Amino acid sequence: MPAFICNTCGTQFAPSDKEPARCPICDEERQFVPPSGQSWTTHEALARRYTNTFRQHEPGLIGIGTVPHFAIGQRALLLRTDKGNVLWDCISLLDEATKEIVNGLGGLIGIAISHPHYYSSMVEWAHAFDAPIHLHAADRQWVMRPDPSVKFWDGDALPLATGVTLIRCGGHFAGGTVLHWAQGGGGRGALLSGDIVQVIPDRKFVTFMRSYPNMIPMSAPAVERIGKLLAPYPFDVIHGAWFDRLIPRDAKGIVERSIVRYVKAVTGDGSAELQ
Ligand SMILES: [Zn+2]
Ligand SMILES: [Zn+2]
Repeated sequence: MPAFICNTCGTQFAPSDKEPARCPICDEERQFVPPSGQSWTTHEALARRYTNTFRQHEPGLIGIGTVPHFAIGQRALLLRTDKGNVLWDCISLLDEATKEIVNGLGGLIGIAISHPHYYSSMVEWAHAFDAPIHLHAADRQWVMRPDPSVKFWDGDALPLATGVTLIRCGGHFAGGTVLHWAQGGGGRGALLSGDIVQVIPDRKFVTFMRSYPNMIPMSAPAVERIGKLLAPYPFDVIHGAWFDRLIPRDAKGIVERSIVRYVKAVTGDGSAELQ
């Protein structure tokens, strides 16, 4: 039986003989079903039309993304730690070349994913590399392909290796998670942020949204809480959710200034807009 993949969000569902009736992730207000309607593909069909590409962002950190663009278009990150490789975030296509390359680098000791929009084909990856998937329990309802490899964690932080910590920030999703890498950024610390802390095109600021495609803002208290949760962790670099979303320096200050700017915009008295 095929495990169908939603063309819009890239999520793989549990194997079924028929296409699922709907995609709960796309039906929800943070994603969308396109005007052409719900449609599906399979992993085999993807592998015929797409390929994966690789880019080293810095020593010990390799981006893996699919070309041409598929679904949301995020790229995963292979992070080399003292305990072995961790896959941060995930993509829908795991082709034979990617399996060979990742195995050549030592395989995976675990997979951690920022939020449900990037769950993609996580179970394919978990099975191929015999690795557990660490998901925050607050997003349990959004797992569309349940599997014993999925391990839910609770609380605000989970260490995965020396200097590698998952931090649950919430916000975009209740279980929205970022990964802090203490040795990253040339030893100044790096944040792998998914779109929980969204790097925007000018790279001088980040932003925070409940929905990016539908442009629904997040509340000021939720954004301020993200700032409080990140405060104890030093970082100078942010690797966002796409190949080109990188803040190369002063990332901590950028996050702090962005939170101030964001809160002012959503709690202001309208004096700038109502003239
Ligand atoms: Zn979907
Ligand atoms: Zn998202």
